Amino acid sequence: MADTPADLARLLLEADHAVVLTGAGVSTESGIPDFRSAGGVWEENDPMEVGSMATFVTDPERFWRFHRPRMDMLLGVDPNPAHRAIAELEERGLVQAVITQNIDRLHAKAGTQELIEVHGSLDHGTCLRCGTAVSGDELKARADDAEDGVPRCSCGFQMKSGVVLFGEQLPSDAIEAAFDHADRADVILVVGSSLLVAPVSHLPGIVCDNGGRLAILTESETPYDHRASVRLHGKAGVQLPEVIEAIDAMDVH
Ligand code: NAD
Repeated sequence: MADTPADLARLLLEADHAVVLTGAGVSTESGIPDFRSAGGVWEENDPMEVGSMATFVTDPERFWRFHRPRMDMLLGVDPNPAHRAIAELEERGLVQAVITQNIDRLHAKAGTQELIEVHGSLDHGTCLRCGTAVSGDELKARADDAEDGVPRCSCGFQMKSGVVLFGEQLPSDAIEAAFDHADRADVILVVGSSLLVAPVSHLPGIVCDNGGRLAILTESETPYDHRASVRLHGKAGVQLPEVIEAIDAMDVH
């Protein structure tokens, strides 16, 4: 018989240290296309190319022509019921941390406190030469003021947003925190990730190898489906509020 939101509710209620790992699929219902589902911006643009360190360095104008309007798009949308339900689970003490591959800030906007952004985020920019940091708004303003659309630091070097590009190192403090939570977790819930992007794709395996349990709520198949104790399909924005309802019906929190 297919698993239900009530099965996921029970798993979370039984957990001592539950972490949520999210990918692009948790934000599609906010209007942000993921990389792998059909349609959208990624059919015309290869993310490995327009979002790469190589393009940023060798053709900054092209990089910023793509990246600047994308910042507005990503920062202009609102959290959906999936982000809100995940924040609610943390608020109730049923989730200890949220590890996200997303750069869109939607978990933070929904109220998640313990948020680990392993691919960086759009909330700041830095100069790669002198290390000067500015807010995301300041970065956008500098891009808009520049004739060639490339935001620059006062030292003259071009600035980069806090998003990790292809070909760039992931932030070591975030990766360390993510693996530390996986080491301690007895439940990991994956929402909206194909689990094809390393290194976070290793986290479910770590939890399972330590004797913990895995739940997956993602529309497509993932390489970890056979290890999942609870496997839900369908829309995260529909299923996760049902998990909260199931918890309420169990009347324990
Ligand atoms: P992915 O595109 O590989 O996989 C997304 C998964 O979510 C797919 O399996 C899809 O079937 C599923 N999905 C889509 N909509 C869903 C919904 N409403 N409910 C449940 N499942 C849904 O994404 P990934 O695993 O995150 O890896 C791709 C990379 O893309 C990551 O590095 C991420 O940083 C980046 N990315 C981020 C954003 C963002 O910040 N919102 C958007 C696009 C890509």
